[in-house]
Amino acid sequence: MRGAQDTRQAASEIVAELRRILAARGGSIRIMEVCGTHTVAIFRAGLRQVLPEGIELVSGPGCPVCVTADDYIDAAIAYAGMADVIITTFGDMLKVPGTHSSLAAAQAAGADVRIVYSPLDALAASRENPEKTVVFLGVGFETTAPTEAAAVLSAKEEGLKNFCVLSAQKLVPPAVKLLLADPDVHVDGFLLPGHACVVTGTRPYAFLADEAHKPGVVAGFTPLAILRAVWRLVRQTAANEARIENEYGSVVREEGNPAALAILARVYEETADEWRGLGVIERSGLRMREAFADFDAERRLPVEVERVEKKTACRCGEVLRGAVRPTDCTLFAKACVPTHAVGPCMVSVEGVCA
Ligand code: SF4
Repeated sequence: MRGAQDTRQAASEIVAELRRILAARGGSIRIMEVCGTHTVAIFRAGLRQVLPEGIELVSGPGCPVCVTADDYIDAAIAYAGMADVIITTFGDMLKVPGTHSSLAAAQAAGADVRIVYSPLDALAASRENPEKTVVFLGVGFETTAPTEAAAVLSAKEEGLKNFCVLSAQKLVPPAVKLLLADPDVHVDGFLLPGHACVVTGTRPYAFLADEAHKPGVVAGFTPLAILRAVWRLVRQTAANEARIENEYGSVVREEGNPAALAILARVYEETADEWRGLGVIERSGLRMREAFADFDAERRLPVEVERVEKKTACRCGEVLRGAVRPTDCTLFAKACVPTHAVGPCMVSVEGVCA
């Protein structure tokens, strides 16, 4: 294992090499990370400050809570208002503002909204409360979707009748593809999501190199792993090369995790889904197959959600596309702070504004 001294030495060598490459190439290089955990790791380690001028890291739509559309929050609040319904959710969904309110406000008004750490906790709540319907808010990416699918399979095998999922599980590659076509988004290379690639493998990102001639590197989550991935991206960009490289080979395989992918495919099929800031993207969401319709909250307990255009100065949508920085928002660190967040990018720990 590396000591702190070795790590610092390795980091300085990478930064020196980045300087050398940039000096030889000239210009600047813009890299987008499309994973909220990378965003957190980059900020915690201060990597943006460490990198030489000319290398810019920009955050993309990698925070699952942030990209969840208002309609979904509104539907969750509508379920929370139903008698005999228990809402189970990850904690960072509580304060996300919907069109008019939030789950935290619903909870304060008496709704039964419970924080869980896994869909398996929601299954436990279903067993313990057979007279109630337990709705699990399934928000996440490829990383969490297989666990959710496994919970649905367990519920079916167990014959649990009072468990269902309001799913907003999303698939990252279609969103990246959309960003490539966005004239406001200028990115030279992509830091690919390590956790999601454990499940999907690197193949779903082949289009980056094959169709868009952009490099992509799958990265782990230590500061040194991220720096090494940045170096690989900069090296490729400077040489006008475009490959998908894997800097997280200890856990990421080209083919992903076949067992997790099989569970996912058994329960879910791809569908169009709405992303905050990006709109509706074809085949970017997951919908339960007909055989599991009883566990799909939308089909089991349909609710009408009025679509309202929210008037707000919040620029989360543009922030999530990497089109503007949080500091470009006039509310940033003034009207919008973590304790009084105006938009979801300030609510979630993975939100770039937070
Ligand atoms: Fe939205 Fe707040 Fe970020 Fe501005 S600072 S974009 S209001 S979350």
